[in-house]
Amino acid sequence: MMAPDFSRASRSRMADIRVSFEFFPPKTAEMESALWESITRLAPLEPSFVSVTYGAGGSTRERTHATLARLVRETDLKPAAHLTCVAATRQEVDDVVRAYRDAGVRHIVALRGDPVSGPGSVYEPHPGGYATSTALIEGIRRLGDFEVTVSAYPEKHPESATLDADIDVLKAKVEAGATRAITQFFFDNVHYLRYVERVRARGITIPILPGIVPVQNYRQTASFARKTGASVPQWLADRFEGLDDDPATRRLIAAAVAAEQVLDLVDHGVTDFHFYTMNKADLVYAICHLLGLRPQLTMRAA
Ligand code: FAD
Repeated sequence: MMAPDFSRASRSRMADIRVSFEFFPPKTAEMESALWESITRLAPLEPSFVSVTYGAGGSTRERTHATLARLVRETDLKPAAHLTCVAATRQEVDDVVRAYRDAGVRHIVALRGDPVSGPGSVYEPHPGGYATSTALIEGIRRLGDFEVTVSAYPEKHPESATLDADIDVLKAKVEAGATRAITQFFFDNVHYLRYVERVRARGITIPILPGIVPVQNYRQTASFARKTGASVPQWLADRFEGLDDDPATRRLIAAAVAAEQVLDLVDHGVTDFHFYTMNKADLVYAICHLLGLRPQLTMRAA
């Protein structure tokens, strides 16, 4: 009989770990300096790419563009621009794609976007717009040689009848030209691991990056999770219980929770991680350190 293997990949020297970081465009000058402080701290970890979100219904169109243009101008980072097609004509969306291209952006995270009245309401495509994320991907690919990343939902998208129907949508997005997916965040790794298994069984081979959200603020994260269809396990609530007025302990717990999650994923063979940074570097930097990443001095940042 063979001896059981109790070795853990996360306890060996971790090779080939790749990370990417997501930021949102800042609203004020103060938020802008906080963002750039975070970018400057995280850039030497040499992420595969950094992405900048596109506010609901295109509400941050100019700010998203300005952040991306600055990333191209002032850093060696590879920027990815989020883009949604909700509430916009094809012409308007195409103009944004051309502007990204002209600014030097070659990677788009293509999304349908939430319904205009918010998650949970009925999605109405714009009559003159791209009706689905698949149509958007085809439009982007017509306008240039862009790398296209899309979303994936391990616990299924709230509008989707079943997880299989959701995987059908992912398959259509891959057939339209998507070469990578980033998942909605999740707390129980089993959701992600089972999802990847089902996706592979359907013949989808693109990388499915787990989207990791460090819990900077439990209440806020739990409320956001409810809107996006991500489940919040009781054990997570228990870990943050009684800490509302104790930010220092909360931060330590947040670091422990995130460390447990990513190291368990490494033990299951995951090598690529996407971090929802919330424009804050500290926690993400620490988790990347645990993953074996060290600052490289060659990176030009800010
Ligand atoms: P899709 O994956 O295209 O579809 C979601 C669901 O809609 C499907 O599962 C299915 O139920 C239904 N559906 C779609 N097309 C079809 C079809 N052809 N036939 C049948 N059913 C269909 N939002 C923003 O506003 N800005 C952002 O920057 C942003 N970034 C995100 C990044 C990531 C990694 C993720 C996971 C989400 C992001 N979102 C963002 C949220 C996203 O816009 C919402 O979840 C939105 O409701 C769905 O967009 P999608 O592209 O994920 O949809």
